[in-house]
Amino acid sequence: MRNLFLPLLLPTIGVLVVLVVLGTPGSAIAAAIVTMAGFVMAIIASRDSIQRQLQALVRKTRGRVEGTPAALPPVEEDTLDEVAHLEGAISSLHARLAAQNAQLTQEARTLTAVLDGMIEGIWITDDKGTVMHHNDALREMLQPGNAGIVGQRPLALIRNEELNEAVLRACREGASSRLELHLEGLFPRMLAIRVTPLGRDLPGSAAVFHDVTELRRLEKVRKDFVANVSHELRTPITAIRGYAETLQSGALKDPEVSPKMVEIIHRQSERLSELVEDLLELSRLESREVKLQIANVSLAEASARAAETVKPKAVSKDIHLELHVPPDLVARGDQRAVEQVLLNLLDNAVKYTPAGGRVDVLGTWEDGRCVVRVKDTGVGLEPKHLPRIFERFYRVDKGRSRDMGGTGLGLSIVKHLVGAMEGEVKVESQPQVGSVFVIFLPVAAPETASG
Ligand code: ADP
Repeated sequence: MRNLFLPLLLPTIGVLVVLVVLGTPGSAIAAAIVTMAGFVMAIIASRDSIQRQLQALVRKTRGRVEGTPAALPPVEEDTLDEVAHLEGAISSLHARLAAQNAQLTQEARTLTAVLDGMIEGIWITDDKGTVMHHNDALREMLQPGNAGIVGQRPLALIRNEELNEAVLRACREGASSRLELHLEGLFPRMLAIRVTPLGRDLPGSAAVFHDVTELRRLEKVRKDFVANVSHELRTPITAIRGYAETLQSGALKDPEVSPKMVEIIHRQSERLSELVEDLLELSRLESREVKLQIANVSLAEASARAAETVKPKAVSKDIHLELHVPPDLVARGDQRAVEQVLLNLLDNAVKYTPAGGRVDVLGTWEDGRCVVRVKDTGVGLEPKHLPRIFERFYRVDKGRSRDMGGTGLGLSIVKHLVGAMEGEVKVESQPQVGSVFVIFLPVAAPETASG
C-alpha cells in the first residue's frame, strides 16, 4: 500500500493549508474538489502500477515456461508485497516442476537404454493393439522397412493370426499367452513370444520376442546326433547278436559256416569299438577335455608314420602311395593330433580310391603356413557334398562308407583337431577324378624349427 499513501496524503495536506489560510466556505468546496481529484489520481496511479507489476510477472513466468528467461524486465522498487509473494510461489513451483521433469526424463532415458540393450525384442501396444513403443532389438528382428513399427497393428508387422489374437486377448481380457513362430523371408527365424497385459491401471499389452533360432538348431543337431549314434550302434550289434544266435542254435557245429560267422562277429565288434573310440574322441575334443601338447612336429615324420599304418590296405588294393614332404617342414602342433589327422585323411584316400589308383602326400609352405595335401585318384565328391562332409555322420553314400568300415566321424575329428591347433582344413574334389584334402598348420618357431 506504499504507493497509495503519497497520492492520498498530498491532497489532504493541500486542503488543510487552503482552509487555514482563507477560512471561507467556497474555498472549502475547492479544497474538497482538490481532495477528490487527488483520490482519483491515486487510484489511477496505483492501478497502473499493479498492472505493470502483473504484466512483468506474466512475462517472467511465460519466459520461464518457454525457456527464454533472458528477456526479463528489471524488478520495480515499489513492487507490491502480494505480487512479490506470488512471484516467489510461482518460482518455487516452477523449480519443483523442473526438478520432477528432469527426473522423469532421466528415468525415461534409463528405461530406453535398458530396453535397447536387451537382446529380446519388445513392443508395447495401446488398448486397441496398435504398437506405441518398441526397442532396437525388435527392429533388428522384424526389419520393418520404411513404414516402421510404431502405429502399426500386429498383423501388419507379422502375418500371423495367432499372435494378433494373443495381443487382442491381452488388451481386452487381460490374458497372457506364449507362442512360437517361424518367420519366413530372407533371414528365417524362430521366435518364442510372450504376450502380457500391461496391468490394471494401464490399458494395452506388451510382447517380448525371444530369438530361439540357434537354440532350436542346436536341439535338432543334438537329436539328430543321438538318432545317428543309436542307428550306428544298432547295425553292428544286430549283426553280432544275429550271428551269435545262429551259432548257438546249431551252426556252431557246422565247420563250413561257423568260421565265416565268427569272422563276421569279429569284424562287427571291431567296427563297434572303432565307433565308440571315435565317439569318445569327438566328445573329448568338443568338451575341450583333450589338452594338446603343442610342440614342433616334423610333418615328414608324421606323414611317414600315418602312411605306415595304411600301407597294408593300400598294398591289398594295389594303390600306389607316395610321400613328398620336405624333412624341414616343421609345424607347431600336437604330435599325436597331427598323426591322427594325417591317418584319417590317408585312410579315407585309400578307402575311396578304386584298386590300381594312387595316393600322394605333398608338403610345402604357403603364406607363412605349413601345408600338407593328401591327394587321391578316387571316386571324388560332387560340389553339393563339400560343405557338409566335415559334419558328424555325414556320408555321401551311407552303404558304401559302412561297407568300407567308415564311422562317418573321421573328417569331423580332423576338423576339430586341426582347429584346436589353430590350423585349417579344406577340400577340393571332382567326381570320378579324385579329391585333395589340404591341411594348414602354423609354422614352428624359427629358432627351434631346425633343432
Ligand atoms: P567315413 O567314416 O564315412 O569315411 P568321414 O568323416 O571320414 O567318414 O568322411 C565323410 C564322408 O566324406 C565319407 O562318407 C565319404 O563319402 C566322403 N569322403 C571322405 N574322404 C573322401 C575321399 N578321399 N574321397 C571321396 N570321398 C570322401
